[in-house]
Amino acid sequence: MDIVMLGPPGSGKGTQGNLLAEQLGGRPLSTGDLFREILQDESHPLYPKVQVVKEGKLVSDDIVNLVVEDGIQKPEYRDGVIFDGYPRTIGQAEALDRMLSGMGRQVDLVIDLNVSREVLFYRMLGRQVCPKCKQVFHRDQGLKNCPDCKEALVYRSDDNEETIVKRLHEYEVSTLPLQHYYRSSRPVYVTLTIDDASLSAMDVNGQILEKLKEKGMLQEIK
Ligand SMILES: [Zn+2]
Repeated sequence: MDIVMLGPPGSGKGTQGNLLAEQLGGRPLSTGDLFREILQDESHPLYPKVQVVKEGKLVSDDIVNLVVEDGIQKPEYRDGVIFDGYPRTIGQAEALDRMLSGMGRQVDLVIDLNVSREVLFYRMLGRQVCPKCKQVFHRDQGLKNCPDCKEALVYRSDDNEETIVKRLHEYEVSTLPLQHYYRSSRPVYVTLTIDDASLSAMDVNGQILEKLKEKGMLQEIK
């Protein structure tokens, strides 16, 4: 199954994508990782094209699409891909449809995590990270150090109110057309409204599975 995850920064779509990968099959795809791999391999046919990333320039849809198209041919993505952070534009969404259709596949499912601003702010402003193992905690857990590595927890510099407002705005502007695109086309579209900060990742996952059951999608799952 090929799944597109939509959701603002801080919505937990990476976490949910990983859980769904285990439950539904398929593998999460990170465009960042694909770019990094190509940049480390001078013999890769896309190596010259991805140099723009190093120069810090804006990466065009065309280049992102080429990198994704190359990436999803790898055997580990044969049983399906969970896309998180791609597509970001209509151009990318159309390109993804073409790529998958060329492989006899399609976007089967879109999961839209509609997390309220209050919850996003609560999560991001209180977010603490272990610099060593990268585990994420929340200020309200009252931890000063990582329980596993004893390392002092830190806040991320981009988790401040001004940056969050900007990131959410960018997300809304770019995603609204995508929501439209997928709602008016074939994939099963699941929206989850999350306005309770006390919901755990497993709670949200349970709700997603519940909705998939309602839509009759869980029978198809191996
Ligand atoms: Zn740690």
